[in-house]
Amino acid sequence: MSSEAILEETLIKRSQQKKRTSPLNYKERVFVLNKTHLTYYEGRPEKKCKKGSIDLQRVKCVEIVRNGGTVIPCQNKYPFQVVYDLMTLYIFAPSNESRSLWVQSMKEEIRNNPHVVAKFHPQFWQEGGWLCCGQAEKLAPGCEEYNLFGDITRKPLPPIPGDESKVRRPPPPPPPTEVSPQDPKALEEVVIALYDFEGAEVQDLTLRRGEEYVILEKCDVNWHKARDKYGKEGYIPSNYVTPKQPDNLEQFVWYCKNVNRNKAEEQLRNEGKEGGFLVRDSSSQGAYTVSVYTKSLGDGAIRHYHIKETSSSPAQFYLAEKHQFSNIPDLIEYHKHNAAGLVSRLRYPVNKQNTAAPTTAGFSYDKWEINPSELTFMKELGSGQFGVVRLGKWRAQHKVAIKAIREGAMSEEDFIEEAKVMMSLTHPRLVQLYGVCTQQKPIYLVTEFMELGCLLNYIRQRRGSFNIQNLLSICHDVSQGMSYLEENHFIHRDLAARNCLVNDSHVVKVSDFGMARYVMDDQYTSSSGAKFPVKWSPPEVFNFCKYSSKSDIWSFGVLMWEVFTEGKMPFEKNLNHEVVTMVMQGHRLYRPKMAAAHIYDVMKMCWQERPEERPSFAQITQMIADELEADGVSS
Ligand code: ADP
Repeated sequence: MSSEAILEETLIKRSQQKKRTSPLNYKERVFVLNKTHLTYYEGRPEKKCKKGSIDLQRVKCVEIVRNGGTVIPCQNKYPFQVVYDLMTLYIFAPSNESRSLWVQSMKEEIRNNPHVVAKFHPQFWQEGGWLCCGQAEKLAPGCEEYNLFGDITRKPLPPIPGDESKVRRPPPPPPPTEVSPQDPKALEEVVIALYDFEGAEVQDLTLRRGEEYVILEKCDVNWHKARDKYGKEGYIPSNYVTPKQPDNLEQFVWYCKNVNRNKAEEQLRNEGKEGGFLVRDSSSQGAYTVSVYTKSLGDGAIRHYHIKETSSSPAQFYLAEKHQFSNIPDLIEYHKHNAAGLVSRLRYPVNKQNTAAPTTAGFSYDKWEINPSELTFMKELGSGQFGVVRLGKWRAQHKVAIKAIREGAMSEEDFIEEAKVMMSLTHPRLVQLYGVCTQQKPIYLVTEFMELGCLLNYIRQRRGSFNIQNLLSICHDVSQGMSYLEENHFIHRDLAARNCLVNDSHVVKVSDFGMARYVMDDQYTSSSGAKFPVKWSPPEVFNFCKYSSKSDIWSFGVLMWEVFTEGKMPFEKNLNHEVVTMVMQGHRLYRPKMAAAHIYDVMKMCWQERPEERPSFAQITQMIADELEADGVSS
């Protein structure tokens, strides 16, 4: 009889996404296969409610899905697919045996179907594309030959239990402790939280520093869906966690990512503890430096030691050649107890980043509109092209800067359209856009609050107090932020010291990126207008408005000049139109007294007439890092 069940089992079914933006979900269903249909029910096998049924004659392909390393966000880790009409149904079995039984049983039933495909997709359709071949059309032809019966991955069917039951029941999944090397569970990405995160919305997951989480889905670069040890799931900011891997230094308190030599010295000095230390990235790619503070050499001295690597395979790491280790954590552990040639043993890890959590791309996943009733307004911070900026708090807790856009100052619709892109730009050297309030007038832009205000005032007010390393470090911060924009093909268009801000840790961040496009003021937007930043612009910009990352580089050279003159006005005595003529004739800004010849060389590289001859921000960042490291690394 056709209605007799061949197979019956509770499996998990992935929703057939109706809208591209709706999140996928995974539901337990009782699946029943008989000679004519694959039917699935909600509820227990005894009391089921039919949710759907597929006529087997319409099925074109049944095959296992290779998950290609993507994380499967449900407890059943063995996916297979049923392709029928124009749809693909993804079903997840609890074990390889169960999956193979379902796939093979269904293949038996469809073997005489007229429309069996010649080619199929061996991996998932996910987020608007086929993971196997990258085609972005759901109905794109398959990329791998479909072999209804010659599949070498097939294992023989497990024997049908010799009891009276006609329904084949797959063997139970292996106990959870039995993790074989091929088990996709082994591919699950386990991460460790670097900071606490209080989920802002119900959809978010709270993070506790040091605890482990499983990544379920990488929704976008900034937000991942994760599960905590209690099984709770939700969204987390991806920059708050780091993969749990033995060679990943980020999980150790002593590792300071993004800290240059100057900042390391500042941190160690501020802490002032004998044997205070940190490990940071060296200026040379992939290498690390240990920076140590000691009072034993007088007034408080800092030594920097490169961690060296042997050329043997596998490589060994050492500070003192006699004491080699197979990894850096072991090396640090050893030197915590033994100076072995260092000025001091590594007594006390110093890491300011431990306490200060980084910004997130918005306050929650997929949320850019901020409810203005959740904002409180405090003192005025300043005012600019778009209007007044005030200090405020979001949900009475997070300090933010709120820019109220003056009527007629901005082409608002265009900006709102772009705001999502700007929010997704997240980097420790960029002032974060948290969200916007667009349902009212004036509209608000809510950004990261930077305690020490704009860079230009910061350097002017502290004139005379900087050493060369401090000035280089400021340029390094800006260049790092700009490298990130460059990598993301995002052009600033108005880079200058006045458009950078400084926080209470004296970290400089790039602000107002891309905003020049939305200014509605001819004096600012027209290259002959009084407010046009001619003195920061290369010839291709003031002549043809041709913006690029290379025009940002020119502006960066001028910003370096502003920094090394501690806040002078470029071409102080000249009017804009005179500067145009001078620059066209090859004239350039003079060498600031505090800039040594090779530092001035970096500025001049930025001011090459031909854009293609100017360096990239990645190169500039490297040059400055090298410069910062140039004197005094101990060995
Ligand atoms: P606009 O973009 O309208 O020209 P700005 O961004 O230049 O305005 O802001 C004007 C002033 O407000 C800045 O010079 C600075 O002093 C202050 N300000 C702006 N944004 C912030 C912020 N995020 N944190 C602290 N102060 C800020």
